[in-house]
Amino acid sequence: MNPPSPSDGLFKSIVAGSFDAIIVLDRQGKILFWNEAAHQVFGYRQADVADKSVLNKLVPPEPHEESPHPLQQLLEQRVAAPGWHHLEFETCRADGTTTWIDLRACLMSDGSQERIVLVSRDVDETKRRNQELKLAATTDFLSGISNRREFQRVLESNIGENICLAILDVDHFKSINDQFGHAVGDQAIRTVAESLVQFFPTALCVARLGGEEFGVLMEADEADTMIQQFDRYRRQFGNTFDYNIASKFTVSIGLAFNLNSTTNVRDLLTGADHALYESKKNGRNRVTLATSLKPN
Ligand code: GH3
Ligand code: MG
Ligand code: MG
Repeated sequence: MNPPSPSDGLFKSIVAGSFDAIIVLDRQGKILFWNEAAHQVFGYRQADVADKSVLNKLVPPEPHEESPHPLQQLLEQRVAAPGWHHLEFETCRADGTTTWIDLRACLMSDGSQERIVLVSRDVDETKRRNQELKLAATTDFLSGISNRREFQRVLESNIGENICLAILDVDHFKSINDQFGHAVGDQAIRTVAESLVQFFPTALCVARLGGEEFGVLMEADEADTMIQQFDRYRRQFGNTFDYNIASKFTVSIGLAFNLNSTTNVRDLLTGADHALYESKKNGRNRVTLATSLKPN
């Protein structure tokens, strides 16, 4: 027995109650049908859009665009291939505000006529939330710069290049907390983060690796200028803080280079870490190069 097919009236009710915008076009992109959800998403009523080109309603005016809008390309070319075709783009609503939409399009036949069916929904909120989540996953909450995970990612994606990896650790930081309290300690961490971003504007990544330890990753074709640059940073470090007693605070730095693209991420990190440890051991307030990774 064949399953009962839904009546025309039942289909109309489903389309009317859908949370997704459902739009039916003729083959030239002229709007034939527009459900209530389309009104909610785009702000136009069916009467405002009937017989109008969907491109004029859904595509924001971009007079300087050279290539056709992806929706135009989809309607003119891609939709001819069987199945549903997917797009995500920023559209302009009736009131002039913009929003991101997810849109699927399919060419269907209705008796002897070809129709294009668009099913679309507003994804602005989801997109914004995803961006926030991505930012939270890559950013250090206290200082606002990159976190260790992001530093590791940037390091891994640049390991084939000539790079300089620096790990910096504030000397005797515990005494800032002990003398001035944790809030001042937090502010000092933010200040160091800002100073690094300002001092190394071309860095591939400046990150807080944890506590009061920071990482800076630089493109470096030769070592001397890098060593001088980090030593200049070290020498002016005390001036970074605007509260007077902190001028005595210093920083220790470990540097490792990959100037022949043969070092792996782990060895480079270990090298910079050991070099930092050497800086601490030899009296702090200094820059040390990783022994096994010294530039040629
Ligand atoms: P060293 O010269 O050997 O580096 O000595 P140090 O006192 O800086 O010691 P270390 O680097 O081992 O420890 C850093 C201290 O930083 C430990 C902790 O009290 C403090 N710290 C870590 N994270 C935070 C933070 O988020 N806020 C504040 N205020 N202090 C922190
Ligand atoms: Mg320290
Ligand atoms: Mg530390």
